[in-house]
Parts: sequence; structure tokens; C-alpha cells
Amino acid sequence: MNDRVNKPRPCPACRKAEMQPATYVREFHPRDRKVTVELLTSRCPACGAEATSAAQHVENLARLKARKDQYDGLLMGEEILALRRRFGITQQQAAKLFGKGKIAFSRYENEATYPDETMTLVLKLAIEKLDVVRWLAERAGIELPFLDARCEDERKQKLRVFRNDARATRWLKIASTEKAQRAVDSDLVRWWEGGSQDHSLEAAPANDDRCEMAREQYA
Ligand SMILES: [Zn+2]
Repeated sequence: MNDRVNKPRPCPACRKAEMQPATYVREFHPRDRKVTVELLTSRCPACGAEATSAAQHVENLARLKARKDQYDGLLMGEEILALRRRFGITQQQAAKLFGKGKIAFSRYENEATYPDETMTLVLKLAIEKLDVVRWLAERAGIELPFLDARCEDERKQKLRVFRNDARATRWLKIASTEKAQRAVDSDLVRWWEGGSQDHSLEAAPANDDRCEMAREQYA
């Protein structure tokens, strides 16, 4: 961790002391295993107020992400939350979409419980394939506010890539930031990370077709 993570600053609550680096532990229980992650924050020695700086938050996200190695194929709560947010639906809509009880997604996202093997598989499919979510939504009669926007995002990203091959490396850098990863379909990013340009030229149009087909279907 660099110095910036624990940069000294006055307590925002009482202003009587400098915030001191502190840690706390979050505990998760995938497959009844105990997984702990030590997270960073700052605490005021005078009044006890706690605050997490932006740099600490970035470090914490990386630490949380790293726990996935111990999940043995299970999805982390934030992955399920990300899937739901990606399509702009509530926990209750997600429950209806996937045929679960009303509080199921609240529990999945907090990791109070973990989806069983079948549900995990379906969620992973939904994360990978826009069409799966589209099919489920149609079946459940749920509107997905962000679906068209996501197809549009994919199209724009690809136009940037294919207009100029020299830009590909730069695009990859952009795509590897968390924000951009949410904005482009994950298989396109993986395709770049795989490093095969030839393969990619086939993969990308197929991706376009998928949106186009879906668009017609929903017109
Ligand atoms: Zn204080």
C-alpha cells in the first residue's frame, strides 16, 4: 500500500486530532468456510469518528475482490449486485426475474445466504449473456430500463475499437478500468485480454448481431 492510503488529515467531525490509520475485518462464509478481509479506514483518537478516504476505498475494493479465490465458484455479493444494477432493476424485480422469493436478492447481495448451484449457474449465464437476461425478463414480464442502453454502449465501444486498430491498446487500458468494464460487455473485454486479434474480429460482429437480434425481437 502506498503512502497516499494513510495520508494524515484532521478529523472531519471534531477537528481536535489527526485521523489515525485503523483496520476492521469483514467476514464472509462461502461454502461454510470462514473468509476474512482486513479493510482500511481512519479513526479519530479524540472523538472516535471513523472515515474511509478515497484511496483507502480503492485499496479496500481490491482486497474484497481478491477474496474470490476462496469462493470455489460461488458468486460474491457485489457481483450479484452489479448484475442487478447493470439492468437497473430492484431486488424484488430481480427475484421475480429469477423465480425467487422477495428477499432472496437482499440475502445474496449481503451474503447472508449464497445461491445454490443451479441458481449460481443461471446467474453466471445472466452475467455473461445479455440474451439470457432478455429472455428471463420477457418471460417474467419485467421491463429492463438499461437493456437498450447497454446494447448502445457495446456498439459505441466497438466502433472505437474497429475504426482504428492502433487505438486498440489504449482502448484496452480504458476497458480495464472498473467503470468501463461495467459499460462494455464482459466477453468483449475478455476477448482483448486474451490477446488474439484474429479471433476478436469474428467475435465482435457476433456480439453486434446479438444486440441487433434482440432489438428486432423487442421492436
Ligand atoms: Zn474527532
